[in-house]
Amino acid sequence: MNNKIYKQKSIRFKCQGSGNCCVSRGSFGFVYLSNKDLKKLSIFFNMNEKNFKKKYCSISNGFLHLKELKKNKGNCLFLLNNKCTVYKSRPTQCRTWPFWNENMNAKTWNNVISKNCPGINKGPIIETKKIIKILEEDKKNDEIILSENANLLK
Ligand code: SF4
Repeated sequence: MNNKIYKQKSIRFKCQGSGNCCVSRGSFGFVYLSNKDLKKLSIFFNMNEKNFKKKYCSISNGFLHLKELKKNKGNCLFLLNNKCTVYKSRPTQCRTWPFWNENMNAKTWNNVISKNCPGINKGPIIETKKIIKILEEDKKNDEIILSENANLLK
């Protein structure tokens, strides 16, 4: 399996504002938050972190993530008319989409990601070095979330 699809040097991506990546479905579910994400969002809402967590977050298996409301039918609670209402302060997980390490194999990219994200194959070719940078950020974010939540479980 090709697990480095970005090396094809022909990956095009331009967000089409579909909001599809903001809808929880299967493994593309929760929006997990690092402490930095939490801080940014709390500042955005002019709330302290404790109150932000209480109002907008849940914890599943020890991991902090944005709350999912049944009435929203999988839509992120910050999605309104297909637009992110916290865009400038959106979590790292949202900023790095669709260039997540787990998306970089041909099977997932072609059969799942490309089918759900209308931004793929649109717009300019994204330079490999730019994709690698985003992938590094995604990896680092995962590591940070894992280490921070490990502390939370203690
Ligand atoms: S925070 Fe914004 S970008 Fe992230 S899932 Fe929610 S609506 Fe989408």
